[in-house]
Amino acid sequence: MANAVFVSTRNPQHQVLASEAIERGPAPDGGLYVPAFFPKLGEKMLAFSGSFPQFAAEVIRPFFKGDFLEKAIDDICHQAFSFSLPLFWESADKAILELFHGPTGAFKDFGARFLAGALERSPRKSARPLTILVATSGDTGGAVASAFYQKKMIEVFILFPRGRVSERQEKQLTCWGENIHSLQVAGSFDDCQALVKGAFADQRFHQVFDLTSANSINLGRLLPQMSYFYYASVEFLKKTGKRAKIIIPSGNVGNAVGAYWALEMGAPIEKIVLAVNANRPVVDYLATGEWKARESVPTLANAMDVGNPSNIERLRHLYPKFSQFKNKVSCFSVSDEEIRQTIGQYFEETQYLLCPHSAVAKAIDRQLFKEEATLSVATAHPAKFETIVEPLIGKVINIPAHLELLLERKSIYEQIAPDLESFYSAALKLYC
Ligand SMILES: *Cc1c(COP(=O)(O)O)cnc(C)c1O
Repeated sequence: MANAVFVSTRNPQHQVLASEAIERGPAPDGGLYVPAFFPKLGEKMLAFSGSFPQFAAEVIRPFFKGDFLEKAIDDICHQAFSFSLPLFWESADKAILELFHGPTGAFKDFGARFLAGALERSPRKSARPLTILVATSGDTGGAVASAFYQKKMIEVFILFPRGRVSERQEKQLTCWGENIHSLQVAGSFDDCQALVKGAFADQRFHQVFDLTSANSINLGRLLPQMSYFYYASVEFLKKTGKRAKIIIPSGNVGNAVGAYWALEMGAPIEKIVLAVNANRPVVDYLATGEWKARESVPTLANAMDVGNPSNIERLRHLYPKFSQFKNKVSCFSVSDEEIRQTIGQYFEETQYLLCPHSAVAKAIDRQLFKEEATLSVATAHPAKFETIVEPLIGKVINIPAHLELLLERKSIYEQIAPDLESFYSAALKLYC
């Protein structure tokens, strides 16, 4: 069998194995890595009776054919996915897929933990540790910090904007220490991102650090996201006899790309629906056929406030003709008012708590797919957004023990000005 290779969305001639794509992040030409072809597992997975980590390893392993990590995929999946992945059944053929039982209560735990497992097994080309830079507006930084905490030969710098993340999110970004260095930037999320980009372009940083990034375009975060959609669609089919329509709260569209890749491998999925907040470039693209990035607008579902979703490049690569894209991709948008209503009404009817992001998917389910077999995706634990959810339901949300533990730890962070000088001297000071 031939090796599994990945190509840049911008150049089919540029081919690498999975571990190289994961170490690099973006391709050198600025494109994103995508599988050169999709192994078809199809029917075989319908009869699979193991645990989720075993299932995930079956789905992910073919993408590492010929890679030195191929033999480690079982271990990586068992270590990374050591938490539950339940479905909440609302009725005979409607369920919610709960992706928020990881250590930081966000679906990003799956991707970050798989990525950490892959990178910690990669041989270092120099005696220096690998240094990961992450700019975060909330969930990403926490998931990455938790996943890489105490990993040997890996240092992480997290840059977050002062006063723009919720109190509980800030705690998850700053409660670590050791190899995790949190930097509070006196600026916006865009300033944080500019500092990370600036560091990658600055020779001074490269002289001291072996840099890489762990943001959502890294292939190492996408491959695991494919595995739970495959798994859940099989569970859904077994229980209902039907193929699910999967409704996914989306921002940068990385989670949804995982679902499309599962579909390409033969997962029993009827349809994939992107659920977005007031940030609607994909809705507009489907209506006009013309791609236009927008300024992002702030909403209650803040992890989805993305005006120029980078993973659209992967989706357009998969469905290059607009007619194909339109045939495969549906996207609907929900207002903050609809998010509030859905959280309140759904709790009243079912006693089930939705976070603001998960409510975007549920709102679309209730408006457009009421009579159909659907799997709505819940991306974060509602306790992380208690200031929004609690007033709507009129009661206090219990915090899961593992989140509570993080919130009780001491915060440690450095404050920096939004300029490269300030970032560089703080990085030097903290570097072990
Ligand atoms: C990141 C995030 C999303 C959006 O996921 P994308 O892969 O960027 O589309 C949705 N919900 C929550 C809670 C998130 O943290």
